[in-house]
Amino acid sequence: MDSKIRAEFKNRFGAEGVRYASSGRINLIGEHTDYNGGFVFPGAIDKVIEAEIKPNGLDKVRVYSVDIDEYVEFGLNEEDAPAQQWARYIFGVCREIIKRGGKVEGFDAVFAGNIPLGAGLSSSAALESCFAFALNDMFNDNKIDKFELARIGQSTEHNYCGVNCGIMDQFASIFGKKGNLMRLDCRSSEFEYFPFDPVGYKLVLLDSVVKHELVDSPYNKRRESCERVAAKLGIETLRDANMEMLDSIKDEISAEDYSRAKFVIGEKERVLDVCDALMRGDYETVGKRMYETHHGLSADYEVSCEELDFLNDIAKECGVTGSRIMGGGFGGCTINLVKDELYDKFIATAREKFAAKYGHEPRVYDVVISDGAHRIG
Ligand code: ADP
Ligand code: MG
Repeated sequence: MDSKIRAEFKNRFGAEGVRYASSGRINLIGEHTDYNGGFVFPGAIDKVIEAEIKPNGLDKVRVYSVDIDEYVEFGLNEEDAPAQQWARYIFGVCREIIKRGGKVEGFDAVFAGNIPLGAGLSSSAALESCFAFALNDMFNDNKIDKFELARIGQSTEHNYCGVNCGIMDQFASIFGKKGNLMRLDCRSSEFEYFPFDPVGYKLVLLDSVVKHELVDSPYNKRRESCERVAAKLGIETLRDANMEMLDSIKDEISAEDYSRAKFVIGEKERVLDVCDALMRGDYETVGKRMYETHHGLSADYEVSCEELDFLNDIAKECGVTGSRIMGGGFGGCTINLVKDELYDKFIATAREKFAAKYGHEPRVYDVVISDGAHRIG
């Protein structure tokens, strides 16, 4: 990838630029907690977007996507938005920097990536973070602080790509650190690094490659349940609730709202528990909490699906340490913490059984927790 980017850049622009990279991410635990003011626990991975960039002295951006094999030029004013989706991520980052009083001048760029698109590893956040980090370094003497860089990526999704996302993906891509996960408090935006260096284990995602189209906006319904319970308890979000409080109003709320809130409250405690376990290097407890999260997402929050439950069952049968749905649910990946010696058998079994039942194999992504946005060399 590296040499391809360099050769392309040289070919197209007859010079050499500076190279930057930023990463995709996983979330070990802490699902559906962001809109409840709770914790998420992401880390950057060893799958990246890499870009070579050089100011061109013009008032336009010229950029080539290696993977899509497409070249686009655009100006830096609001009305210059390109039509190509991939270029809108870059345009959006430029605009969001400019809107905040930052500087962006014309530049040339060539970029490529190895993060599977739309698989739940946040390739779009990596793309935004790579350019946000680069343009801060190149034109702003790194004066824009890192959290603002993440917000620039998030605003790009909101304002230029029609995706109403939270901050986790861009945060993880920007702040990621090798051998560390980050517990992000979605209420205060404070965060803390925790060591994640599971010697003797692998982290692997199994992508079911299914996405169930849902008719009655289940995400909004989950959110509304949480808000109703919080209102009943007289608190702003379920962040401030515990099981005792929930049980005290059990008779006054629907069984469905009770189950939803039970998951959210449990999930907050599981994240904190996993952090404690990591401080002791206790990956077996981490794995147990992952299974509990899966069970809660499936039985209480009801955002799983047959394929993901099936993958989770296979993990259990194979003696995998931890396994759960990663992401919003209704399809996508499971994230699995697997002992080295079980890895081959687990992957082979999952491929075989899943294919026998659903007609296609799951995709397999090995991930290692790595650095986020950085300048190369
Ligand atoms: P994800 O869950 O991976 O973030 P999205 O649909 O949010 O999925 O973002 C994927 C989009 O990001 C792609 O459609 C493309 O526009 C852009 N993108 C991601 N990676 C690349 C890449 N390597 N080259 C070009 N565009 C990319
Ligand atoms: Mg995305």
